[in-house]
Order: sequence, then C-alpha cells, then structure tokens
Amino acid sequence: MREKHQTDKGAWVKDLRLYVHVPFCVKKCDYCDFLSGPSDEKGIEDYFNALYKEIRSYKSRTDEYVVSSIFIGGGTPSCVESKYISRTLMELKNVFSLAADISPEITIEVNPGTIDKEKLIEYKNAGINRISFGLQSADDKELRFLGRIHSYSEFENNYLLARELGFDNINIDLISSLPGQSIKSWENTLLTVAKLNPEHISAYSLIIEEGTPFYDLYGPEGIYKDRLMSEEDDRIIYKMTKEILSSCGYNRYEISNYAKPGYICRHNMAYWEGESYLGIGLGSASYIDHTRFNNTGSLIEYLNINELFGYKHNIIMSTNNENTGLLHDFFGIRKNIEPLSINQRIEEFMFLGLRKTDGASKSDFYRRFNITMDDIYYDVLRKSEKEGLVIIDGDMVRLTDYGIDVSNIVLAEFLVPGTVPGTVPGTEKNK
Ligand code: SF4
Repeated sequence: MREKHQTDKGAWVKDLRLYVHVPFCVKKCDYCDFLSGPSDEKGIEDYFNALYKEIRSYKSRTDEYVVSSIFIGGGTPSCVESKYISRTLMELKNVFSLAADISPEITIEVNPGTIDKEKLIEYKNAGINRISFGLQSADDKELRFLGRIHSYSEFENNYLLARELGFDNINIDLISSLPGQSIKSWENTLLTVAKLNPEHISAYSLIIEEGTPFYDLYGPEGIYKDRLMSEEDDRIIYKMTKEILSSCGYNRYEISNYAKPGYICRHNMAYWEGESYLGIGLGSASYIDHTRFNNTGSLIEYLNINELFGYKHNIIMSTNNENTGLLHDFFGIRKNIEPLSINQRIEEFMFLGLRKTDGASKSDFYRRFNITMDDIYYDVLRKSEKEGLVIIDGDMVRLTDYGIDVSNIVLAEFLVPGTVPGTVPGTEKNK
C-alpha cells in the first residue's frame, strides 16, 4: 500500500490514480454491458473536447496529490485515432503532477482488431508503458461466439509488434466459463497465451449481464440457459488456471489476476487497497477521501459540459468534512455521491482485502479504523477458519483455495449489520 509520496522539495503528498474512459467500440460484443458503443468521427471529436475540458477543470485543485498510475480504458481506446490519446495524456500532464519517486504506470486497453504499428509508436511516444490486450480466448470459434471483431492470429501479430516496439509490460485479458466451452479448450487458451510470456494475465469468468444479447439467451429466462457452465466445472477451471499459470511463473495476487514477479498492476491494486482514484470521462467512477461518486452516464449531459461550465458548482464534502479540491463538481456531472460510513469502509476493506491472495492485514485495519479486526469479526473469523475458508496467519487473514471457490458466500459473512454494500469498481470484470 502506498498512500504518500515525497516530492523533490521534501513535502509529503497523497497518492492518486487516474482512470480515463473512452466509450467507443467498433461494435458491441454480445456479452458486454459496459458504457460503450460505436460512433462517427464527429461524435468522437466532441467527446474528447468535453474530456479535455473536464481534465482542465481540475487545474490548481491537485496540489495535494501526485499521480502514480493512469489507466486509459473503455470501451476501446485503440479504436480512436491515436492523436486523441496523446492529447489526453498531454492535458493530464498539464494538470496533474506525476510521481517523481517511482515510475508512473500508464496503461492503455487495446482491442487486437483496432491496433497497428503507427498507433503503438504514438502511444510509446506519449509515455504509455503498459499495454492491456483484450484477447479473451485463443480459439477463433469462441471469439466469434463472443462477438469479438478479431481473430487469434491478429492478436498474436499485434502482440509481437508491441514487443518489437519495446513494450515490456503487457497484460492479456481472458474470459473463461463460456457457454459450451470445454475445459480442454480453456486449457489450450491458457497454454497458448502463457507461451507468449506476457507480464500479466487477467482471467475472469463470464458474467451474464442483464440487457445484453447473452442475457436473452443464457439468462434465467433464456432458451439456452442450460448451456451455462456448471459450478463444478467453473471450480475446476479456477483451479486449473492457477495451476497452469503458476507452473509458467505467474503469481496469483488477486482472485482473477496473475503477474510475473514485479508486474502486479499498480492501478488495479488501488481499487483493492481502498486508495483514492479519480475517474475522468463518461460514467467513470471515483473514490476520493472516502467518498464515492461517478460521472454522469448520459452522453448528452457529458457533452454539454461546455454549457454547464460556470453555472453549477457543487461542493461535495467528504466523510470527515475535509474540503478536498478534487471533490468540487464544477459541471454538475457527478452522480451518486456517497460518503462512505465507517461500517461501509470496514466492509470494503475486508471484501477487497480478501480478494488479494496476500489477504487483509490486521495492523492496517487497526491503523485505518482505530479498532481491531477481532473487535468486529472475532466470531466470523473463527467460524470461517474452522470451516477451512480462511487462514489467519499472523497479521494477515486470507482466503484458502476452498474459500476462493465459494468466495461470494464467505464475503457475505463480512457484512457489518446495518449497512448496505455498494458495488466496488475493479472487483468484477467482463470485457
Ligand atoms: S467487451 Fe470491450 S470491445 Fe467489446 S463492446 Fe465491451 S468494451 Fe467494447
């Protein structure tokens, strides 16, 4: 965990992670409920103009922070001309100070069907040092089934190109447990991808989201709901994923994330460690000074950022009544503003901490909440330990392999009575 940085003048400032949302895709994948879709060039240009304005609105309100990671996600950031990406990074660097005591991690998500040599070169020149490929499967039939626009060989060519151009920190996103997928086919995807030796692999199970074509087919009322993978096979897949990737030199550091030593994704760790992050762009989520909020998900409202400028200025106070610069809402585009109660923060600490294979730290718990973990969870911890769901190992409490298999049930035990849990970005992924 890293909450503070020392500037070259010796002052201590807070750590901040930035997420920038690019809501465009060539076409919608059949399983995806992310805030994204196709657009013409004018729509893309208008969006980025609004985005630059949002970034500039933070000017002179960022003094108490330095940025240690930037994640440009979507959508498909690689489907827009790379000039928009380099301009976005330039605007960010004009407003936010990047950490000087560590090398900031700057990631872009790319779709293998929308990337080429020119774009990769421009990303590199703009300072991007981590590429995240949305591959999902090494099987072309499965890619077509998912509605992806690329083949495996297109991905492989672009992956090798990125390597040739010097990108030495690459993630590959995969999705398991597809309807009709065999365990053998998933094994083949893992082995094929591991052979390429990326630094990081995210392997999530498919979630059937409401409002998607997949939901109509495979949801509770869907005609093909019987084709969903059984829970038993899903568990076999989770175990196999860990075994295969461990044997290839990857450490599982979170339920669905694997990295070679030294390549844990710093940006995602901010979500799992309850650190501050600011989401910029349509619908993006933020967590600043224990206050959660998100930008409007309405494109019309977001594009009107111009007209709203100067007319709306809400000041959001954080839980502890700090009036942090980043909590000002100059445009009236922030929604669902929710200062977290102490109980909500405690629950999130446990939910997110237990997703990490290192687990949740008792001393960190005490440092944050001024109460011991046992004061709140003594009975739950002892019961879970007895049932073989968690291990209490000195300062750390972590899920066992069995606990990971049934993590939804275990985590529900850590609700503090009287609070309603919200969803936390970064805990699930389906893209
Ligand atoms: S999965 Fe990714 S590429 Fe497909 S529609 Fe969703 S955001 Fe776009």
